Amino acid sequence: MNDRIFEGKPLKQWMDEYPMLRSMVETDEVFWTNHKYEKFEDAIKKIGLTEDDVREAEERLERFAPYIAKVFPQTRETNGIIESPVVFIDNMKKELEKMYGQDMPGKLMLKCDSHLPISGSIKARGGIYEVLKHAEDLALEKNMLSKDDDYSVMDGEKFKEFYSGYSIAVGSTGNLGLSIGIMSAQLGFKVYVHMSSDAKQWKKDMLRSKGAVVVEYDSDYSKAVEEGRKQAESDPNMYFIDDENSKNLFLGYCVAAGRLKKQFDEMNIAVDSDNQLFVYLPCGVGGGPGGVAFGLKLIFKDNVHCFFAEPTHSPCMTMGLMTGLHEKVSVQDFGIDNITDADGLAVGRPSGFVGKTLENLISGSYTVSDEKMYAMLKKMIDSEKIELEPSALAGVIGPVKLLSEEAGKDYIKKKGLDGKMENAIHMAWATGGSMVPKEIMKEYYKKGLEILERQ
Ligand SMILES: *Cc1c(COP(=O)(O)O)cnc(C)c1O
Repeated sequence: MNDRIFEGKPLKQWMDEYPMLRSMVETDEVFWTNHKYEKFEDAIKKIGLTEDDVREAEERLERFAPYIAKVFPQTRETNGIIESPVVFIDNMKKELEKMYGQDMPGKLMLKCDSHLPISGSIKARGGIYEVLKHAEDLALEKNMLSKDDDYSVMDGEKFKEFYSGYSIAVGSTGNLGLSIGIMSAQLGFKVYVHMSSDAKQWKKDMLRSKGAVVVEYDSDYSKAVEEGRKQAESDPNMYFIDDENSKNLFLGYCVAAGRLKKQFDEMNIAVDSDNQLFVYLPCGVGGGPGGVAFGLKLIFKDNVHCFFAEPTHSPCMTMGLMTGLHEKVSVQDFGIDNITDADGLAVGRPSGFVGKTLENLISGSYTVSDEKMYAMLKKMIDSEKIELEPSALAGVIGPVKLLSEEAGKDYIKKKGLDGKMENAIHMAWATGGSMVPKEIMKEYYKKGLEILERQ
């Protein structure tokens, strides 16, 4: 561990103030509830983003829907709206109760962003949205398009030729690159994806097959982002999608919340003071889960409780929120290696923008071992026939933690929810998986099987 000073204090002093950090350094699992959590009405006053910003993002996606439907036939059924199913997973709930010996009152649901069309992960929200916004900005600026046009005109040589004069760069652990690469290449942009060492080979291969330039690094995600940023600075026609700071990415993710509300309405599911919603979101740098959580808070306010889920080896957001140091501290500063098979979550330094935005709105955060993610991956396939990538399982254990950890029970009690847990909906946000090649999914399954057999 290094002896640098963080906001006037050495790391040892931070660990004395927040003893949970010691467990995190040991890469033990932790469950943390947020001492800065506030009522929605108080918290929202301090945040620069509003419902209007989210509405604008929703409208932009609607303008693009005819184009999306035209170029991605898999979205025709939803008229060009990129959305995922939400399902009850009663069988998996029983499995979890058995695995961890913890009763789970209420219902367990899965939000299947793993099955979002086009790129098969939560990044099909933010990543694709920001590429579309940039494309629209350019076309409006050069009078190629007006907001009242049918955007399906963008599928043609004229626009491809136009966008080929511009390029897009991004740094990624894999899935963001996949979303941005696929969308940018489809529009005609040149696209450069800077990939960290965790990025899976199949994601790189797929991107190259779509015409993206993949630049590989022998180091982690932060370095890939830094190099992407540097590359774009030297070229005025190159646009950098900044996963660590982008408001546009964040707003693209926020849109999920209104869509979920609609799905709930169609299923006759109410979220109100008697029917509380608990959401568990796998977290890397924070944009995806942070955007979704922010959108959900705007709609369900104090009746929704959002928790971030991270690997024990990459607990950057938990550390940043707990200490308030946010992007000023990395897991490596504490001597944690940031090595995890949950490649979507292999991020050592959190987004300061997201951490500060969610500082008073997030209920808590926890960590989970790779072994448990693999074990749940296998059980999810056995019990529900749903194939997820390891990262996407981090959220699934959330209700077990909330209901069994002292800090979780305390949270429920202090919020006066003890008598309401029978009505609760626990929702795990499944963030990726449907594009994982069959052979690799088989290997994941086998790993889960081996881990379960060893126990
Ligand atoms: C990117 C990703 C996440 C987390 O999103 P962040 O914006 O990095 O926090 C979670 N799961 C998967 C599968 C991802 O690809």
